[in-house]
Amino acid sequence: MHNKTPIIQPVLLPLPFEKAFDYRLPEGHNVPLESGSYVLVPFGGRQVVGVVWGAPVETSLALNKIKPVIEVFDFPAMPEAHRTFLSWVARYIMSPLGSVLKLSISVREALEKPKKVSAFYLKKQDEWDDVQITQQRESVIEFMKSLQGRAMEATEIRLKCDVSQAVLKGMQKANILGYTSIEPSLEKQYEKADFARVSLNEAQKKAVEQCRKIQDAEAGSITLIDGVTGSGKTEVYFDLIEDCLNKNQQALVLLPEIALTQQIVQRFEKRFGQSPVLWHSNLTPAQRRDNWRFIASGQARVVIGARSALFLPYHDLGIVIIDEEHDPVYKQEEGVLYHARDMAVVRSKMTGTHLILASATPSLETLDNVELGKYHYVSLPSRYGEAVMPDIHLVDLRKDRPGKDEWISPTLANAMRETFARKEQSLIFLNRRGYAPLTLCGECGHRIECPNCTAWMTEHRRFHRLQCHHCGHLEPKPDICSECGSFDSLTACGPGVERMIEEVRSILPVAKIVVFSSDNMSDPEVLKNTLTQIQKGKFDVLVGTQMLAKGHHFPLLTTVGIIDADSGLSGGDLRASERSYQLLQQVSGRAGRDVKKGHVYIQTRQPDNKIIQALLSGDRQDFIDAEMAERERADMPPFTRLVSLILSSEDEGRVINYAKNMAMQAPTSDQFIIYGPAPAPLAKLRGRYRVRFLVKAAKTLNIQKTIRYWIDQMPKDKVIRIQVDVDPMSFL
Ligand code: ADP
Ligand code: ZN
Ligand code: ZN
Repeated sequence: MHNKTPIIQPVLLPLPFEKAFDYRLPEGHNVPLESGSYVLVPFGGRQVVGVVWGAPVETSLALNKIKPVIEVFDFPAMPEAHRTFLSWVARYIMSPLGSVLKLSISVREALEKPKKVSAFYLKKQDEWDDVQITQQRESVIEFMKSLQGRAMEATEIRLKCDVSQAVLKGMQKANILGYTSIEPSLEKQYEKADFARVSLNEAQKKAVEQCRKIQDAEAGSITLIDGVTGSGKTEVYFDLIEDCLNKNQQALVLLPEIALTQQIVQRFEKRFGQSPVLWHSNLTPAQRRDNWRFIASGQARVVIGARSALFLPYHDLGIVIIDEEHDPVYKQEEGVLYHARDMAVVRSKMTGTHLILASATPSLETLDNVELGKYHYVSLPSRYGEAVMPDIHLVDLRKDRPGKDEWISPTLANAMRETFARKEQSLIFLNRRGYAPLTLCGECGHRIECPNCTAWMTEHRRFHRLQCHHCGHLEPKPDICSECGSFDSLTACGPGVERMIEEVRSILPVAKIVVFSSDNMSDPEVLKNTLTQIQKGKFDVLVGTQMLAKGHHFPLLTTVGIIDADSGLSGGDLRASERSYQLLQQVSGRAGRDVKKGHVYIQTRQPDNKIIQALLSGDRQDFIDAEMAERERADMPPFTRLVSLILSSEDEGRVINYAKNMAMQAPTSDQFIIYGPAPAPLAKLRGRYRVRFLVKAAKTLNIQKTIRYWIDQMPKDKVIRIQVDVDPMSFL
């Protein structure tokens, strides 16, 4: 009777393993745990949070070999749909299931009962001392009445009523408020979602109606909202979020940059009278813990996050919005390689969650899916209100020449002066960090290269040093050329954003200039303050990389200068043209977003190039048609699927040999082609030599299965790493 055999269940751990491990349930557990339950288990001398992954199992192992579950957390189980989704993702991207689970559960503390926080509640009026009710006290009382006896966190009350801690303390002393402690919680007050609703224009109304119709008719619908920058896409999807909240479901908005979150959070607060819950890499550990808990328990109604937010175990997700869906940052390029947009598409089909993709320059993949009838299409053809699209001016650098060691043409310089005189802002766009991308010896032509990578060192003059943008390697800028020994012969070649300031200063000596790149804007506080200052007009000229290109709304910005439109046009990358077009279009979209008309100056040496021409004419369709035709001719995505395999090792000879052997074992079929092995374009990275295979397959084929089989039959070699990238975005 009491010698009952313990129950053994598989538990998946957030570690790089394919399969779940068996654990036995603690004593007193006579029924199996629900699949998806969170448990604490011992693993390799540590304690790890895992998820129960399936029904009890029989085992032939001796019971004492099976470790016991340490703790079963009192927390809602991970929904089955979510677990199915994770399994699918792992198979598709060919990553261990445990690594994919890790995207979902990142904080152990989140599962423990949270610490209590101090809170107040309103006492009955006959308990109050006979004291004076000041205006501030009055406002607290008014507010607390709406809670109907419920206690609320002190910080929350202070925020809502705009009073100090002293006011609350005073009210406690006077027996108006009672003191208690509660678990931190999110207030669910989205009921008053019409807080500051804007009235939509006709195009927006139509778009919302179309989306509603689509969503009513089909579970897990996918819709592209295609609208120029500033057309009011955000307002449209706010209405869809409201619909979702009214159904008591959660909503998720993915954004490409944390930089963008600030503005949207403010807009959100205005519109819904509530803060959304954030999820990105800059949260503090305490915020991560709380926010995860709010999301997994369903308390968080709206989540705004970076790509990783897609993998959180939502309680009941009703809609996902991916803003700027074309943005390459949705692809995670390190560790577990996944594309958040593509995985969101799968998730929505699997769980019936509606998906909205929004962009002014949708990706070719998405447009192809619209064409194929897989996605619905809704458009917003013009800017909201009085704002009109900016005028585009081409500057032919072969005729309109900058001075020696300068990059701003006389035409653009003039435009900047006029803009300054009108007290408006200019943006100088150059997608290159640092001072100069290359340091060259004027005597012997030697170029300074990173010792760990096949890459030039970029000069960062502010810190008097050179940096590799691939591995982060730093070194002081030398005085002497290491090749020929010449003194002071090393010169900066080409411009980076830091260098552009010097030139801007010579054109506008009294203008206030701000540089904007990931080097100086990585601190979220600095970033936030700088963005606010730009909005308030504290700067006259903004010099920036792509970090400035995305999403921002600067009312005073009327002139945009693109220093080198040609830089992205060439290059062997499959998506070079597409990206270049999207980025330039995005930058141009910063100009004239308010009532003042915008002007964009595109500096180029190839004015006849199809991308430059498409920007000039504003005819996106021409560009897309040409690019699609080219992809189809070359049999490339979106018409086929690519998978890249990068083999790397610190031992160059060994990795080359391994790749050769692998090539001999390569499967063959008329359904796919394997290219390589060949040195990867970044032939050396962080000290590892890299060799690449590229597999091109029919989209209908389960190429993952073939590749898995190919890799598994190769002898294991501990010093060789094989990284598989399904649907690669980067071809380095
Ligand atoms: P998009 O997301 O397409 O770039 P936004 O939604 O950010 O466009 O809108 C651009 C600007 O126009 C924003 O400042 C926004 O507040 C404003 N706007 C858009 N629609 C409305 C509306 N219906 N009423 C008032 N302002 C609006
Ligand atoms: Zn030299
Ligand atoms: Zn390097």
